[in-house]
Amino acid sequence: MHKGLIVQKFGGSSVANVERIKNVAKRVVSYRKKGYDLVVVVSALGDTTDELIELANKVNTEACEREMDMLLSTGEQISVALLAMAIHKLGCEAISFTGAQVGIITDTSHTRARIIKINADKIKEELKKGRIVIVAGFQGVTLNQDITTLGRGGSDLTAVALAKELKANECEIYTDVEGIYTTDPRVEQKAKKIREITYDEMLEMASLGAQVMQARSIEVAKKFDVAIHVRSSFSNNPGTKIVKEVKRMEDVVVSGITLNKTEAKITVCDVPDRPGVAAKIFKELSSAGVNVDMIVQNVSHTRQTDISFTVNKPQLRKAIKITRKVAKNIKTGEVLADEDIARVSIIGVGMKTHPGVAAKMFEVLARNQVNIEMISTSDISISCIIKKKFAEKAVRSLHKKFGLAK
Ligand code: ADP
Ligand code: ASP
Ligand code: MG
Repeated sequence: MHKGLIVQKFGGSSVANVERIKNVAKRVVSYRKKGYDLVVVVSALGDTTDELIELANKVNTEACEREMDMLLSTGEQISVALLAMAIHKLGCEAISFTGAQVGIITDTSHTRARIIKINADKIKEELKKGRIVIVAGFQGVTLNQDITTLGRGGSDLTAVALAKELKANECEIYTDVEGIYTTDPRVEQKAKKIREITYDEMLEMASLGAQVMQARSIEVAKKFDVAIHVRSSFSNNPGTKIVKEVKRMEDVVVSGITLNKTEAKITVCDVPDRPGVAAKIFKELSSAGVNVDMIVQNVSHTRQTDISFTVNKPQLRKAIKITRKVAKNIKTGEVLADEDIARVSIIGVGMKTHPGVAAKMFEVLARNQVNIEMISTSDISISCIIKKKFAEKAVRSLHKKFGLAK
């Protein structure tokens, strides 16, 4: 009986060793036997991507991004071949492909490429032959035949984009936890599994550092209403459904807490307080492809002010170099960098209508003797930059204070 198509994505930890690859094969085959067509997206084994980045850094700390993509894409190519072999061993037909082979066409922005279109004919042909189609996550190809990658965690995006293109019933994201929790269950054991979460809340959590889903994949899922089920590859328990709307009598004030240690802070001291100065700094950074996140600048009373902003750690070196160059030109004071920071954020749609949430967050941090270095807010979140060593404690205290614990 034909039950429709499911896209299943298995993250790095789900295929970290031979035994786990065999387990994934068993699960895939069991779905096949239930009558589903299957497209399976796989990430690189375990920490392969990190190891490849380290390897590249040993050869050249400023490796060109095209070659980085050439290197990183090999991780996923290993996984798809091994999974196909494991499925064959169980007596099912399966065939593995790279992103390029299944026509995942991207723009040319290496290491963070955007999908332009997917020519899914090949996948459809193979499905028609009754085969399980296995696709390497995280990668695509430009119209010029250069291999690209889709940003860290990009296998989630591959899966969601394929689910949209192939009109799958559902996109299942298999990982090493049982779903989306109120906060990272590795930081707070009392974190609760959330049964249903909206695209908007998930997008905010992912953007603010909940590693479990890549933010861009949620943007695509939201745009095309792709039904996502995040669940564990080690159990059969139901996980978290990511959906358009969750019917709650009233919006929860705070539904999740995130921790992000991937950013570093740059401070430009004694910046002359006149028009155009910020524009100069951030224009140079953006033309070099540096992604700037939180920015804080105060009004000055002394005609000089400090500007602080955060960047992703892998871009820190480049960002400092550029900032120092501009700083010299516009005659500022020192340019300082701090890698020992963490961003702690609280997220919830109910924040829009409930006053006092920020005050409560700051109070919790103050009571724990945690100094707040930067603050930023959105409609449905509040973030604080604090010293990294206080991060876990801050998350646990906030989790408790906002009533999220089990
Ligand atoms: P995969 O290799 O399957 O892609 P990731 O390591 O990218 O897995 O994401 C899963 C991890 O995300 C979990 O092990 C967990 O520590 C972390 N995580 C962070 N925040 C959350 C959250 N709110 N809910 C669930 N997991 C979270
Ligand atoms: N292997 C890639 C990474 O580690 C893609 C992924 O796992 O989703 O970022
Ligand atoms: Mg991931």
